Amino acid sequence: MRFVSTRGGPEVSLDKALVNGIAPDGGLYVPVELPTFSVDDFTAAATLPEVAIVLLQPFFTDSSLRDELADVLAETFSFPIPVTPLPNGGSRAGLLELYHGPTAAFKDVGAGFLAACLTRLEGDESLPLTILVATSGDTGGAVAAAFNERPGMRVVVLFPDGRVSARQAHQLTCWSDNVLSLTVSGAFDDCQALVKSALADDVLNGHYRFSSANSINIGRLLPQATYYADASLRHFRETGRKPGFVIPTGNLGNALACIMAREMCLPIGPIVLATNANRTIPEYFETLEWIPRASVQTLASAMDVGDPSNMERLRNIIGEADVLRDCLGVLSVDDEQIEASIRKDFAEFGFATCPHTATASHTWRQFDQQLRTANDWILVATAHPAKFETVVEPLIGEAVPLPDELAAILSRPSRCESIEPDLRSLAAAMGAHFADG
Ligand SMILES: *Cc1c(COP(=O)(O)O)cnc(C)c1O
Repeated sequence: MRFVSTRGGPEVSLDKALVNGIAPDGGLYVPVELPTFSVDDFTAAATLPEVAIVLLQPFFTDSSLRDELADVLAETFSFPIPVTPLPNGGSRAGLLELYHGPTAAFKDVGAGFLAACLTRLEGDESLPLTILVATSGDTGGAVAAAFNERPGMRVVVLFPDGRVSARQAHQLTCWSDNVLSLTVSGAFDDCQALVKSALADDVLNGHYRFSSANSINIGRLLPQATYYADASLRHFRETGRKPGFVIPTGNLGNALACIMAREMCLPIGPIVLATNANRTIPEYFETLEWIPRASVQTLASAMDVGDPSNMERLRNIIGEADVLRDCLGVLSVDDEQIEASIRKDFAEFGFATCPHTATASHTWRQFDQQLRTANDWILVATAHPAKFETVVEPLIGEAVPLPDELAAILSRPSRCESIEPDLRSLAAAMGAHFADG
């Protein structure tokens, strides 16, 4: 399989698309075509990694990782991704639990897969690859966890001082020597600007081999399609019905993976996106005009995106708003509705949901009778509620038990340095930490 930028340009191999991240023309890599499957192709695939091998093999035909795909996937899926039936939904509704990875959010899947691929492609102990990542919370933790202690790989995490939760901060700062955690006196935008100028700086590039692990890398998208394939195949085999999915959506990476799985003919019914008060996507569907804007802060903070970059991929793969709105639903959920939904989930399901997952459960409750009963529904749970305990616990009136994976992280010692939002401070901190760099 070859890959091409959404803005045209020459075709490249998967290896090059993985290493480049973003295409030289500023576009996003997409496969030149999507393979299609029948349910029977997966007859011998009993587990998620086995389903993933069948689904991803066509993308790896001319990759140097072709023969290592099984190992890459075994590393990626070192934790389960179950669908739990919802008590009040009967067998007609379930929760896809994407939060059993090391940092208890779905980004562990993409980050783990990318780390497994890049270590094999680019890991070099004599001149390590240095991954720069600016984060407002979840991404940096997942990337740090995925690259922690990998030979030939380093990570520099930059996050805004005082703007992430205590548990998020811990997840960004509890790793081994190959991860440098820096809190920047500034906002997320300052962190992102700093990464951009470091990547472009001649002096730094003389000392380091840089890469970035941002969410638009095709290596984050491909493995996400596999859990939709696995969940839908299981449901279809058991019931003969194609499940619909309701997906909390910010930058559109997770939802796009589901849409790609459906394009590849997996047994997936309707797909509905749940956004928070950032309404760029719902307004695009209403007005047919794409108007990106600054993001607004909400309780579902990992979805605070005003200019979802994966929309460029979605338009390239499927089409413009007039086509998209016929094959996708979308609902915007405000903070008040998120709070009400967390309370209702707890009362009806008997367990808490995180503020992101609550956008999906609210959306599902809003469905009219016809939509709700004509389909079976799988709600996508993107993070564990214990990650957002300061929001969730006051609403449900009790403590959310800490899952083992989060408890393990929170028991690790944490360390971090502060820097000013300028290149000199960043270079000094890196020079001191990576003494041989
Ligand atoms: C990143 C994130 C989202 C949004 O996913 P996108 O792929 O950006 O749409 C939703 N929930 C949680 C918990 C996240 O970390």
